[in-house]
Amino acid sequence: MTSSKSWPCAALPNAELGAKTTMHVGGAAQWLLEPATPEELREAIAAARELGFVPRILGGGANLIVADGVLPGVVITTDRMKRIFRPSQGHGGSETLREDLLPTHALAPTSREEGLELVAWSGVTLLALLRSAQKLGWSGVEALAGVPGQVGGGIAMNAGGKHGEMWDVVERLLVVDEQGNFVELPRAECNPSYRNANLGGLVVASALLKFKLSTAHAVGDSIRDYLAAKNRVQPVTEWSAGCVWKNPDPERSAGRSAGMLVEQCGAKGRVRGDAQVSLKHGNFVVNRGNATAQDVLGLIAEVEDIVAHKSGIALEREVKIWGA
Ligand SMILES: Cc1cc2nc3c(=O)[nH]c(=O)nc-3n(C[C@H](O)[C@H](O)[C@H](O)COP(=O)(O)OP(=O)(O)OC[C@H]3O[C@@H](n4cnc5c(N)ncnc54)[C@H](O)[C@@H]3O)c2cc1C
Repeated sequence: MTSSKSWPCAALPNAELGAKTTMHVGGAAQWLLEPATPEELREAIAAARELGFVPRILGGGANLIVADGVLPGVVITTDRMKRIFRPSQGHGGSETLREDLLPTHALAPTSREEGLELVAWSGVTLLALLRSAQKLGWSGVEALAGVPGQVGGGIAMNAGGKHGEMWDVVERLLVVDEQGNFVELPRAECNPSYRNANLGGLVVASALLKFKLSTAHAVGDSIRDYLAAKNRVQPVTEWSAGCVWKNPDPERSAGRSAGMLVEQCGAKGRVRGDAQVSLKHGNFVVNRGNATAQDVLGLIAEVEDIVAHKSGIALEREVKIWGA
C-alpha cells in the first residue's frame, strides 16, 4: 500500500474500483483513501474538501456501478473501519453521544440481557453484524440475511426487504458533515424512507443499533429461512449490484414490482455485451464475466426504454452510478 504524506490516512493513487464492487465493472479512482477509524474518516473528508474535492463514499460496493475509465477526485472507502462492540452503558437520554459511539468505554455489559445495543463502525459488514446479533440472541437484523455490503452503506440505502430494514435498529448515528465535522444524529431527527436514508451529504461514521431480546436459536432459524427464500429468487451467486430499480408505487404499477414489469415487457434475459438481465430475477443485471460498465449501463438504459414504452412506467434507479 502506498501512503501519501498529503492525506491523513492510507491513500492509493489510480486505485482500481471494479473489484471493490459486487458488479465487478468500472475503472479507477484518481485517489482512494482508506481511513481506519471514525476520526480518520472525518480527517479524510475534511482534507478532500480542503483540496476542492467532494469525496465519494464506498462501502461494500454492493449497490454501485462504477463507469469505465478514470474517476476524477477522491473516493473514500470504509473497508478498514471494522469495529463492532457493545457500549458499556445505556443510552436513554444520554448526553454523551459522540463518546458513546466511539469505542472509549472498555467495559462491555456482562449479560446478554443487558443493554441490547451494539455500536458498529461504518465498515462492519452486514454479515458480521448479523453474526454478532445472532451470537447474542438479539433480534432486529435477521431480514438483512444475504444482503451484501456494510453498515454505513446499509444505513445510507436503508437496505432491507419486506420483512424488515436497516433503520428498524438504528438508534443514533455519528456522521461527518460537509465541513468535516462530527455531528450526532438521534433517530428522531432522521427521515429514512424506502431504500434511502435521505442523509444528503452526511457520511455515516458509526451507528448505535438497538435490538430486541430473543435467542440465538430463534435468530438463527429466521436467518436461515430468509436466506433460503432469497436464494430461491435472486441470482445471489452471480456478479450484480443487487436490484437496479426501486419498486414503483403499486397504485401506478397495478401492484407489479420492477422485476415483474421487466419480465412482462419481455426484457428478462436481454443481453448487451457480457451483461444480461438475470434469467432468475428481472430486477437484476448480471455480469457474466467480462462485461464493461458500458455494457451494463447501456443495458439498463435499454430496459428502461422498453418498460417505459410498453407499460408507460418510468423505472426509478435504486442502484448508484458513479462517473457515467
Ligand atoms: C446479490 C445482492 C443482493 C442484494 N439484496 C438486497 C436486498 O435484499 N435488499 C437491499 O436493500 N439491498 C440489496 N442489495 C443491495 C446492497 O446490498 C445494499 O444496498 C447495501 O446496503 C449496499 O451497501 P454497501 O456498503 O455495499 O454500499 P455501497 O454500494 O458501497 O454504496 C451505496 C451508496 O451508499 C453510499 N454510502 C456507502 N457508505 C456510506 C457511508 N458510510 N455514509 C454515507 N453514505 C454511504 C455510497 O456513497 C452509495 O451512494 C443486494 C445486492 C446484491 C449484490
